[in-house]
Amino acid sequence: VINITLLGATGSIGQQTLEVIKQFQDRYRVVALSCHQNITLALKQVKEFQPKYLVVGSRKAALKLKDELPPKTSLLVGEEELAHLAALPEVDLVVNALVGSAGLKATLAAITSGKTLALANKESLVAGGSLVKKALSQSKAKILPVDSEHNALFQCLQGENLNEVANLIITASGGPFLNYSQEQLKQVTVRQALAHPRWQMGAKITVDSATLLNKAFEVIEAHYLFNLPYEQIKVLVHPQSIIHGLVEFIDGSIKAHIGPTNMKTAILYCLSYPQRLTSFTRLDLASLPSLELKPLNEDNFVCFKLALTAIKKSEAHLVALNASNEEAVKAFLEEKISFLDIVKVISAVLEAQSPAPINSYEDFLAVDQKSRLLAQKYLKERVLTL
Ligand code: NDP
Ligand code: MG
Repeated sequence: VINITLLGATGSIGQQTLEVIKQFQDRYRVVALSCHQNITLALKQVKEFQPKYLVVGSRKAALKLKDELPPKTSLLVGEEELAHLAALPEVDLVVNALVGSAGLKATLAAITSGKTLALANKESLVAGGSLVKKALSQSKAKILPVDSEHNALFQCLQGENLNEVANLIITASGGPFLNYSQEQLKQVTVRQALAHPRWQMGAKITVDSATLLNKAFEVIEAHYLFNLPYEQIKVLVHPQSIIHGLVEFIDGSIKAHIGPTNMKTAILYCLSYPQRLTSFTRLDLASLPSLELKPLNEDNFVCFKLALTAIKKSEAHLVALNASNEEAVKAFLEEKISFLDIVKVISAVLEAQSPAPINSYEDFLAVDQKSRLLAQKYLKERVLTL
């Protein structure tokens, strides 16, 4: 039996992970779960999976819950406890399905304590890639990528030699605004941004997919996961979301990963790795639409371009990029700013950032907090004139 900590159980990836676990109950035991605010769902999950620990985000949430939990479940409160759950001695596999750089500490804790880490929380790598790499070099821990493109690349790379890879190719559906003009983008609403044509995901990543910043994040994620230079990581638009990633080798061969447009396939692969288990979510190849691959028109996606320039500047710029985006997306979802304002907030915060390496968690935290404050200040002062 594999003992699992699932962080972010109440989110989109978290819920799908529990659905996969449910199909293979004799193989997996849920030792610990975390939620942030959604205590109603967390309570339902705890009753069903009977974990030893539940972490909730606030004392207020804990008070509402504490009398209803099963006797064997201990209730813990606050962010510090997420790292604690990730490092529990009885746990073999940690699934990090938290959203935002709030997930970095748990990622580092899982690695430091030698766990297998199924990583969905891409912000860990965007904002803390160098820290994650350093921690991995000092541990026997292994990261299994949940993000569909990286899961695809990871599968294509099995048995291959990284020196023989010419390029990693990440596919992008293009999101809901693929063919929108700048003029059309001015008018788009939160509801339109949340209507992704192919994937059902949490709100933050859905907005990141509409600005295409998500695709730039995935380039950074691939750089740190597979230890390849940025020049060897490419993006192609593939509106059908059937081909999730491709690896081009030096001899001209290309391996592509094709699979259902469903995160459960990637989650199952991470849970069962290095084995495979039977799933009934299958593609009917004969009835597929025709599959297209085409270049991305970067000029239409300013966030994507901005992120590529941040990559060239410094590690601190990546922290600032992530933090300012988290603040801007939150303001957009609260309908305080327009879709095109998101890039303005990020751009202002990046401009104020001077180049610096990120050598410790404290370095990360300092830049993260400074960038959030700057973004909030910018939002407050400029929101009416943006
Ligand atoms: P959701 O927003 O659906 O879920 C996020 C989870 O994290 C929830 O359990 C939420 O708790 C919890 N959470 C939110 N904020 C905090 C915080 N500050 N501290 C602790 N916990 C918090 O996100 P997704 O499941 O969509 O995404 C999770 C991660 O996976 C992201 O990094 C995303 O980019 C990545 N990913 C997601 C994909 C998808 O299909 N959804 C695909 C590829 C990658 P609560 O709801 O209880 O408040
Ligand atoms: Mg992805």
